[in-house]
Amino acid sequence: MAAEIRLFTCLSDNFGYLIHDPATGATASVDAPEAGPIQKALERENWKLTDILVTHHHHDHVGGIAELKQKYNCRVVAPHDKKAAIANVDQRVANGDVVKVGGLLARVLETPGHTLEHISYVFDSEKTVFAADTLFSIGCGRVFEGNYPMMWDSLLRLRALPDDFKLYCGHEYTASNVKFALTVDPDNPALKARAEQVAKQRAANQPTVPTLMGEEKKANVFLRADEPSIAANLHMKGASPAEIFGELRERKNKS
Ligand SMILES: [Zn+2]
Repeated sequence: MAAEIRLFTCLSDNFGYLIHDPATGATASVDAPEAGPIQKALERENWKLTDILVTHHHHDHVGGIAELKQKYNCRVVAPHDKKAAIANVDQRVANGDVVKVGGLLARVLETPGHTLEHISYVFDSEKTVFAADTLFSIGCGRVFEGNYPMMWDSLLRLRALPDDFKLYCGHEYTASNVKFALTVDPDNPALKARAEQVAKQRAANQPTVPTLMGEEKKANVFLRADEPSIAANLHMKGASPAEIFGELRERKNKS
């Protein structure tokens, strides 16, 4: 039986996600931006929260953990964060570890850069990745704790996932990402098509995720830092992909 996934808004622009295994009844929340909307989503479905899969320590991803853990006595799975900024953790995981949510298997992919401990969860059998604040649709997270080569390497790890994998990211930033991407990759037909689609989705108040990794590889300029056309557009021929990526990220920061 395939997993069921629900997405909903938390805080101002975070996504909340539940992934449910119908065979066992297990349900995981990917991160916990705030308890209220997660609880409501669980009640709507009549699901019981068994696990919280944490991606990184930022408050808008962990703020609801304590309250949810108290209410559901769920297991909290989180990366090894050296400063132990994530509290109430039952299980610490690292690259390649496999976490069971009922009968569903989540593979841990270390994707540092946004924070040093940031991980993504890959459900291979569901062709689904939860990439939180590393990879957004048509964008990527800010590089707060790592450096540009580290973040570029994390994006390459995600880019290695098959084209038919669905990307679920941490924030609804797609419209702003599209606006920026068009300034540095204006002749990309896949990006132009995505821009039209996103405008329609946002006008209809629909979320712009999930998207397919194959579409992101074609349209997301941050995954295209090693494309010669991007280097040419930035007048950076001969620069390394990590340098090009860094330039893209800095321009986006200022946009
Ligand atoms: Zn974050």
